[in-house]
Amino acid sequence: MANAAGASSIQQVDVAVVGAGFAGLYLLYRLRRAGFSAVALEAADDVGGTWYWNRYPGARCDIATTDYSYSFDPELEAAWEWSEKYATQPEILAYLGFVAERYDLRRDIRFSTPVTAARWDEGEERWHLSTGNGDPVSCRFYVMATGCLSAPKPPEIAGSEVFRGDVYVTGRWPREGAALQGRRVAVIGTGSSAIQAIPLIAEQAAHLTVFQRTPNFALPAHNGPPLPERAARLAADRAGFREEARWSMGGVPLPPATEFSWQLTDGERRERFEKAWAAGDLIVALTQLWADAGVDADGNALVAELIREKIRTVVKDPATAEALCPYDHPFGAKRPCLDTGYYATYNRPNVDLVDLRRDPIKAITASGVETANGSYDVDVIVFATGFDAMTGAVLALHPIAGRGGIALSDAWAGGPQTYLGLTVAGFPNLFLVTGPGSPSVLSNMAVSIEQHVDWIVDRLVALREAGFATIEATQTAQAGWMRHLQDCSAMTLHRLANTWYTGANVPGKPRGVMPYTGGVGPYRSICNEVAGRDMLGFRLS
Ligand code: FAD
Repeated sequence: MANAAGASSIQQVDVAVVGAGFAGLYLLYRLRRAGFSAVALEAADDVGGTWYWNRYPGARCDIATTDYSYSFDPELEAAWEWSEKYATQPEILAYLGFVAERYDLRRDIRFSTPVTAARWDEGEERWHLSTGNGDPVSCRFYVMATGCLSAPKPPEIAGSEVFRGDVYVTGRWPREGAALQGRRVAVIGTGSSAIQAIPLIAEQAAHLTVFQRTPNFALPAHNGPPLPERAARLAADRAGFREEARWSMGGVPLPPATEFSWQLTDGERRERFEKAWAAGDLIVALTQLWADAGVDADGNALVAELIREKIRTVVKDPATAEALCPYDHPFGAKRPCLDTGYYATYNRPNVDLVDLRRDPIKAITASGVETANGSYDVDVIVFATGFDAMTGAVLALHPIAGRGGIALSDAWAGGPQTYLGLTVAGFPNLFLVTGPGSPSVLSNMAVSIEQHVDWIVDRLVALREAGFATIEATQTAQAGWMRHLQDCSAMTLHRLANTWYTGANVPGKPRGVMPYTGGVGPYRSICNEVAGRDMLGFRLS
């Protein structure tokens, strides 16, 4: 967009959005319909976000596709049919491409355009964005649809750069795939992505060595066609099903169990557990067993031991089975994973597990991985080391300067501070989609994204109608929200796990439970109440 003299011009819009994943696409759709001029700036060269970047073998959703879909347009829902209960990455990417096509969204997206800095201009009351490609942007409102799990965490292992073989990162898997066939492969990490990828890598590799720091709880996915009973409920009353999801605890319409573990006999608990195990559904396992599973250590320990029992049944070598059993965190305090042949993969003759708690990695060498007790020569290293979650993409490579030039990284030096997970005091006209302090990663994110986008766009419309140019959370409201966040998280077991929910997976990152643990439905009603009470906690001008 250079002008005739070759100098760049400034793109002027009402709203600039960063990101073109689930959130960015729906934002563009709503903003356009509400009559705002908008642009989305996306680092990738196409839409999809998470589902663009995560092309590793076995990448799938772990919330059933009946639930993990947009619900804003019944005609869109009728026009798309999922082939599986848990769709693969290519199918979800195709879905998001279909959505972009259907509503002609790509024309407002600037691809291959990372936002490199953002600055609030107090005189103009506008945000100024620098980009790594093309014209800078000036906008009245700035919306971060940058994703909670979009900034892969660099491996903190010495020597990664000296390795002579091929290196892959699950969250940045190459479009053309990876050469794994018949090769010696190391996978470092055993989180959700690794648990999905390991069975498929093991099928291709001559030998696979898995390096595990922390075992995770994984439940069988029992993938197959879309869940018949949920599909039937959807078909019978689509609007009712979606509305129930919006007011549920996790964004999936399943009323939580009300009996406590101590009100059930051993037999009754086992029966419930076996039913949940057979369901192959994380939300069922997290909400349908007994009411104290997520909030009381004793109630939780019962679930954890039943899962460990299952691991020991599947994995034949007792030492490997024991190494795969999680003891260091309560079930659900870390996002549990879905298993499609994961535990059984350790019965293959070409797969070994290295337990890094007993035998830590010393360094990556030119030929492989060196641990305290041995060395492993490999041709390929796959880093499945996770993400700098929730705050990573907002802060990474992206200095954001608010009122008085204050940097967001300074405002958040002690951990992310937000009002409702949507806004930050001192940063007028800035919105975060599924930001820290909202249910986000503790929910079906399709539901949480739609709720945030609707709330943001509805507020922008209301501001325009009332003649206001700026909106900013007050420090008092933000402090109150942070207090409420802490009170809610103190009632859960999340604080007892070193996880990406709490920032513990990134060295030096401040610790705290980042998502709102009070539930999707209660959170929605708070957001609605704030709006209904004349934007309680916001300063408008
Ligand atoms: P993203 O999809 O992460 O998109 C953010 C986009 O912003 C990216 O494309 C990125 O390139 C872009 N971006 C970031 N910073 C910049 C910048 N500075 N400049 C320009 N562009 C930028 N959630 C569920 O609810 N259910 C699931 O089953 C599920 N499965 C998942 C599986 C995997 C492997 C992963 C990683 C996540 C999964 N999630 C799941 C969470 C998932 O991230 C969300 O469901 C959803 O896709 C997030 O959409 P989003 O648009 O908010 O962010």
